[in-house]
Amino acid sequence: MSTFQAPKGTYDLLPPDSATYLAVREAIAAPLRGAGYGYIETPGFENVELFARGVGESTDIVTKEMYAFETKGGDRLALRPEGTASVLRAALEANLHKAGNLPVKLWYSGSYYRYERPQKGRYRHFSQVGAEAIGAEDPALDAELIILADQAYRSLGLRNFRILLNSLGDRECRPVYRAALQDFLRGLDLDEETLRRAEINPLRVLDDKREAVQKQLTGAPLLRDYLCDACKAYHEEVRELIGAAGVAFEDDTKLVRGLDYYTRTTFEFVHDGLGAQSAVGGGGRYDGLSEMIGGPELPSVGWALGVDRTVLALEAEGVELALPATTSVYAVPLGEEARRVLFAKVTELRKVGVSTDFCFGSKGMKAAMKSANRSGARYALLLGERDLAENVVQLKDMESGEQTALGLDEVVAELESRLG
Ligand code: AMP
Repeated sequence: MSTFQAPKGTYDLLPPDSATYLAVREAIAAPLRGAGYGYIETPGFENVELFARGVGESTDIVTKEMYAFETKGGDRLALRPEGTASVLRAALEANLHKAGNLPVKLWYSGSYYRYERPQKGRYRHFSQVGAEAIGAEDPALDAELIILADQAYRSLGLRNFRILLNSLGDRECRPVYRAALQDFLRGLDLDEETLRRAEINPLRVLDDKREAVQKQLTGAPLLRDYLCDACKAYHEEVRELIGAAGVAFEDDTKLVRGLDYYTRTTFEFVHDGLGAQSAVGGGGRYDGLSEMIGGPELPSVGWALGVDRTVLALEAEGVELALPATTSVYAVPLGEEARRVLFAKVTELRKVGVSTDFCFGSKGMKAAMKSANRSGARYALLLGERDLAENVVQLKDMESGEQTALGLDEVVAELESRLG
């Protein structure tokens, strides 16, 4: 029988590389934790209707990429293709917005699923860390999120990323622009599907990656020229606050992104070392989403950063994260009695917070020291028959090679003070 393989478009995270993924998730989460965002976790699947209404019936995500299925009980569910709709659903369901403390600031980390054509940087199962600030209309909140994402990327050592910024207008000015754009698009030589898209969601045509389409779009009306005064002032304030924080950005009047729910501020983080899948993260304001999924009016803003692509960006820039070895002490027993005694010491060391590993199985001394080396441990603890008789244990400094005998009763306190 042949062995199984990971499904198409997916891959496994394995040590040692998986440590980088953990560190990236942690680095993205750290600035959020430090800014008052609380952790939220929602199910990996939701009612399919939530995404259809929340993400948008005309988006690729909903029409082509969703893993939707019917359960044995007849429920129509879908694996989550993104985080925002679920997080807002959960916040509304728990009435977090009624606790009298708006905005509700939440962050999350998890797996997302889209049935896409797999390629480098584009998978059917991927991982995001995201943040949502629900229930406040304040340019400082939009700015805060952009600044925190910038901080996260910088703390990882990334430099070659750019922030693209745009405003999509609101329910007052966007329809006027939408109509003008539609008029323009109807006059172009477009294929049937694109024409259909122009009728349902014309802004998304601006996002078309095909060069032939992009060529025809020269001279298309720009949203910038249609923004109402309120949207203009709001956007100007966001720009100023980000600029004052020393965060560089580029105005991108064609940035619309693939989800229907965005209003006003939209942004994308792109990395120049990633080829076609250059977006490492993105987000924006979604003032209408709550009402779209049956909630009250709750203007909100958020982003999601892709963990997989952030790791690829680190590789592209040649950034090696300084990940300390996870094991500090590696314990090697020689003989049955030594094994019992040393195993007990290992548990004691772990209890006082010294990360310790043990030589399992019956390895010879040479193989055991090889494992000690591989573990990256700073110290090896060696316990033989003679040591036992003398009530000592050998402490070997793996850097200098120096070896000293320590009393069996002192070793835990000694290592705790050296490593603690
Ligand atoms: P989106 O929800 O499409 O704006 O995605 C936000 C971020 O998630 C993107 O910038 C990517 O970093 C990441 N992402 C989205 N789709 C995929 C995918 N299929 N494979 C890997 N990463 C993805």
